[in-house]
Amino acid sequence: MPPSSDKSAPTATAPIRFGPPPTPLIGLDAVAGHSALRGFLGERRRAGRLPHALLFLGPKGVGKRTLAQALAADHFCRNGGGCGECADCGALLRGNHPGVVTVAPLEGKSAISIEQVQLLSRELSLSAADERGRVTLLLGADRMTLAAQDALLKTLEEPRPGNVLVLTASRGDAVLPTIRSRCQRFALLPLTNEEMATVAHRLGLAPAIPLEVAAGCPGVLVEWGAPLVDRLRRGVAKLLAEERGREDLAKWIALLYEEQPDEVEPAQVRARARLLLRLTSSLVRDAVVLRASGGTATIRNLDQTEQLHAISHRPEWIDASDALGRLARAHDRIEGNVDAASALLCALQPAADEAARVGEA
Ligand SMILES: [Zn+2]
Repeated sequence: MPPSSDKSAPTATAPIRFGPPPTPLIGLDAVAGHSALRGFLGERRRAGRLPHALLFLGPKGVGKRTLAQALAADHFCRNGGGCGECADCGALLRGNHPGVVTVAPLEGKSAISIEQVQLLSRELSLSAADERGRVTLLLGADRMTLAAQDALLKTLEEPRPGNVLVLTASRGDAVLPTIRSRCQRFALLPLTNEEMATVAHRLGLAPAIPLEVAAGCPGVLVEWGAPLVDRLRRGVAKLLAEERGREDLAKWIALLYEEQPDEVEPAQVRARARLLLRLTSSLVRDAVVLRASGGTATIRNLDQTEQLHAISHRPEWIDASDALGRLARAHDRIEGNVDAASALLCALQPAADEAARVGEA
């Protein structure tokens, strides 16, 4: 299926286009990958024995939300299995099904607040509007404030019959153990290359990046498949591979603002900084693998092999666990609303210092 020209191409700042593929089906059977888990959930749902609280854990973009939405579609579809055409499926696709409650960080916010959870708890204490019960999707449980997590505990302890609560999180350790222990937990593993190819085909994507770069995460493929992201990825690879020192931080700032509007919103700069950090991590990870194995069998940025060889010899990325940890911490700090440019520079500064120090020696 060729990419249709009437769809606007995803951009670096657009929300990830998760959700059902453009086939009529929107239930569990329409989701690519996660077949054992889909089988289990489908069986339990048909038997009316879904756990009252489920926690989907897995990397960003692996399909946690897609799976949660598909489970809701299976639950409410009049024809069974998420036909995509009945009245219930229509309401699900429009996002206004009375049986589905969705909680996620509000626009421009990085966390789910206690007020949002209190509102949810009140709603869940009432009878469901739909006689088939209520499915609550709590997207980003790892982004609830501590107070919000505390407030959720009571709801999890005394669930009203007919409620199914599906939580998603990429960082399991950011969810309180008391919440984790009250949920049945499921790990979503990265998709195989064949499954990723199926996703690309169904979504009509012709990603600019090699499929491997998305590391088995369809959401990453959609976000990073945009031509701008591919240009940024090449820019980052070039910068990481170059002989460099402190003055080159200006080049990172240039990437931060490349093709951004003149009146760019802080949230967009934060999103770009996070993207640059994730692209950097992906490339540094490959350079480490290349140095350790000497081969390209398991590297992801296959088209950047030449730059990866250069990066693997750069002194600032030799201590990879330290470097990758620093990039991940900077990514989380930017989630917390700090100034994006400083957080980006802090993550890269030790690397630049190290390069300058080795250069001077
Ligand atoms: Zn249906």
